[in-house]
Amino acid sequence: MKKFVMIHDENLCIGCEACSVACKNENQIPSGVFRVQVHAKMKGVFPNLQTDFTRASCVMCEDSPCVSVCPTGASFKLANGITLIDENLCVSCKYCILACPYNARFLNPITKAIDKCTFCYPNRVSDGLTPACVSVCPTDALIFGDINDNNSEVNKVLASKSVEYPKAHLGTKPKLGFIKNTKGGRYE
Ligand code: SF4
Ligand code: SF4
Ligand code: SF4
Repeated sequence: MKKFVMIHDENLCIGCEACSVACKNENQIPSGVFRVQVHAKMKGVFPNLQTDFTRASCVMCEDSPCVSVCPTGASFKLANGITLIDENLCVSCKYCILACPYNARFLNPITKAIDKCTFCYPNRVSDGLTPACVSVCPTDALIFGDINDNNSEVNKVLASKSVEYPKAHLGTKPKLGFIKNTKGGRYE
């Protein structure tokens, strides 16, 4: 069974937001809401400044609070670990928005259902493509693949670099990790 993971290498990210734009185009996400955004935070002391770019999206928790609180089964998990939303079953109660520790969910004003990153499984990954955000990144800052494939790029990165997971202390076991930016500047 495949198990998909994504890694955001913050050392390579330039904050161009191409990922966010590609996601909107691919998934017809209306203006004002996002499945992914890249946040910028300045560090250091002038003139030794550096910007950290962090990705904000669903982190595909293995133990996902959004699924366990959903009263209708609209939030569900595939056998490959990807959490999805059946918009026909979603009653917009927003329990999952409150339960998600990553602020990853939003009400889609068009579908009137809760929405979030799907790892592009339904429209791309199930057909052997990479997610839209990964495919457009000009610096290859996003690495995506099957952790159960020993030859996958994600496994090579996991074996050679220090990958951290957001809010790991919560025990949600995210499948989206990041490589911390270590370039330049220093934290004030
Ligand atoms: S497309 Fe790549 S470089 Fe640009 S903001 Fe997204 S992750 Fe960073
Ligand atoms: S990040 Fe939030 S929406 Fe995504 S699986 Fe975890 S709890 Fe659910
Ligand atoms: S994996 Fe797909 S749905 Fe998720 S942020 Fe990337 S483009 Fe958007």
